[in-house]
Amino acid sequence: MAGLLSRITKGAEKKPAADGEPAELDPIRADDQARRVALLDSLENSGLGWFWASDAEGRLTYLTPKALEMLELEETDVVGRQVSELFEEDTEIERDEAQRPLRFMLAARNSINASAVKLTAGDKSAWWEISGKPHFCGDGTFEGYRGSIKDISRTHQDRVDAERLSQFDSLTGLSNRHRMARNLTSTLKAFTHAKRSCALMMLDLDRFKQVNDTLGHPAGDELLKQVAARIQRIIGDEGEIGRLGGDEFQIILPDYDDRGELGELGQRLIQMVSQPYSIGGSRAVIGSSVGIAVAPYDGVETDELIKAADLALYAAKGGGRGQHRFYSSDLQDKASHRHQIEADLRDAAAKNELLMYYQPIVDAKTHEVVCMEALMRWDHSERGMISPAEFIPVAEDVGLIRELGEWALNEVCQQVAKWPNKVKAAINVSAVQFASDDFVEVVRTALKRSGVNPQQIELEITESVFVGDIERTLLMFKNLKELGIRLALDDFGTGYSSLSYLRDAPFDKIKIDQGFVRGCSSGDNNNLAIIAAVVSLASVLRMETVAEGVETKDELAAVTGQGATHLQGILFSRAVPIEEVTERFEKGDLVYVPRGPEKFRADRRTEFRKIGLIHGDHRYTVILRNLSKTGAKVEGLLDVPLETKVVLDLGGGQLAVATVKRSEGYSQGVEFETPLISDGADGLCTRHRVSPYQMELAGRPLQALNDDSYAGYMHAQSKEPKAFMEVQLSGRG
Ligand code: C2E
Ligand code: CA
Ligand code: CA
Repeated sequence: MAGLLSRITKGAEKKPAADGEPAELDPIRADDQARRVALLDSLENSGLGWFWASDAEGRLTYLTPKALEMLELEETDVVGRQVSELFEEDTEIERDEAQRPLRFMLAARNSINASAVKLTAGDKSAWWEISGKPHFCGDGTFEGYRGSIKDISRTHQDRVDAERLSQFDSLTGLSNRHRMARNLTSTLKAFTHAKRSCALMMLDLDRFKQVNDTLGHPAGDELLKQVAARIQRIIGDEGEIGRLGGDEFQIILPDYDDRGELGELGQRLIQMVSQPYSIGGSRAVIGSSVGIAVAPYDGVETDELIKAADLALYAAKGGGRGQHRFYSSDLQDKASHRHQIEADLRDAAAKNELLMYYQPIVDAKTHEVVCMEALMRWDHSERGMISPAEFIPVAEDVGLIRELGEWALNEVCQQVAKWPNKVKAAINVSAVQFASDDFVEVVRTALKRSGVNPQQIELEITESVFVGDIERTLLMFKNLKELGIRLALDDFGTGYSSLSYLRDAPFDKIKIDQGFVRGCSSGDNNNLAIIAAVVSLASVLRMETVAEGVETKDELAAVTGQGATHLQGILFSRAVPIEEVTERFEKGDLVYVPRGPEKFRADRRTEFRKIGLIHGDHRYTVILRNLSKTGAKVEGLLDVPLETKVVLDLGGGQLAVATVKRSEGYSQGVEFETPLISDGADGLCTRHRVSPYQMELAGRPLQALNDDSYAGYMHAQSKEPKAFMEVQLSGRG
């Protein structure tokens, strides 16, 4: 055909038109091969339409030369190659389900209708839309395709860009919600088939709103970009990261199921995200929380897994800031509990259900009380006493914290006005409350109304107030100090710690977080060194130091040994109602005597939970009395010999292989073969769980683990007699 190009004008000689007269019509008739070919040639040359043809073996036999020119290709580069290999199909664009891939269409000898394909040659590439029809000769033998090509390079790139936009978050370049959901669905589908696991992590920023509000939206955007970059640095190509909108991120982690590894990864993410940011010359600090769910254990379907990870995130946020949490089936109850708290909290103040309790802070040398920390309590009409750790974060989220905070300030100032002059009161101030513009006014009013001596009032502020605009924070401090009150830095060392705050901010006191005091005497951690460092720094800056959460006599000895000037903890007194405080002050009884255990005990907690113990073919029910990372104490079986191998069934597919190391009557101490890990909160969990795939093999439908589904699976029926005698014990006591 290309050879015909030279004859382009032959046979097309027209009679010149006479002046003003239309030229005589000279139609191209169907049998005028030459002129028809010339017409096609000019069409090809103009770029309006190109053609291709293939043979019965699927090899390209013709491609319009002009099309080849575009890519600087020679005929020999393409002719003879398989059409299905030559044209690369577009994977960026979402194909509608009905349209099958090009190679299927070719193999099935179907018509091809405007398929977008890409042709690449060296560093050049073009997008073409190809159409074609199979060609059969007279006797019906397939002879190959004949088809046309349209160059869509320009418009298609726009379409790809638009499609990318609809799949990627334009701010961070991460996948968007749409793409994440699609990828999660296809991953889960493929993985269920291949019996592989996949973890889903949800990460949400704490106090992002504050940055947005104080530094402005462009700063908020910049912060999100930096967060995305940090997450990317940690995850690398281990998983796919997406931003779902706002300050919510999601990570798909194929082939992750070890909760030990996942917990470490979650903590690493939280730590990285919590490091300070520099944004247009301002410093900003935020925190983050992580929720983790793993398929197929916590969900098999996309929706199920997303919901599980969401619930875990919700629990992580509710449990305080900067935590990770794994999904477990009881989170469902906890979530509805939180909804209930949210609903009831609005009425709590009106119904007079809020109270202030007070816990003494004593002088480290004399044990005389110098300050009372005011701690809020909620005496709920149905649920009883609710901890502030549970409802303060809710109040912060639903915008009730200012109201509660103002109430607390007024209430405490009224009380202190009646106390001995040398006893101060410390009031906790939430960072959200601190961020409000009228905060200084609220304090001024409370002082004035009560007539209290401002020197007797101390505000406890956490490091998280150094979020956003540091200048504003320092100005707030200055204004508060001008009222004559004192400032204390609370929970020092948790999360946002930076010693630079201390230099610039006018604190009178640093409170060393309980986490450093707990077990500081046991020697196998560097808590003591940290306490020593904080104490010496504080003394240089002429600040007092309070060791929080002193529970035992050996902790008392350790923290006083490091030079802490003040002490607080249940060793001296828990927080008590105002009546007890008043009574004590009236008696003039200001010295607290330390009362409590001598020694800190490793993280053993008392539990009274029924669990399963599997031995041989039998599953016994026992009561779990103590659980630590390395072992447990169970009750309910008589005289189990030492060194007996058992499996503890801790619920939700968590099986822990253990050996009996102590045995006394109906009580046994067992040691785990593999230590448990932290569940992110106060609890412990196993690294691995029974896989729903195993249960599927045993004839159960594939579904996420809930205790019913798998307890049945665990229930071995055996003809063998039971090896141990079961003792009935009540659940408590
Ligand atoms: P926080 O400010 O760190 O208060 C100390 C917490 O440790 C209190 O818990 C106290 O009861 C507890 N504690 C004291 N000594 C010991 C000890 O020896 N061992 C142990 N394990 N715990 C001890 P509480 O009263 O449950 O308060 C929890 C948190 O709720 C407080 O932590 C504070 O952040 C917040 N909060 C309490 N009251 C208020 C309030 O009026 N306003 C605001 N914004 N937050 C409050
Ligand atoms: Ca406090
Ligand atoms: Ca504290």
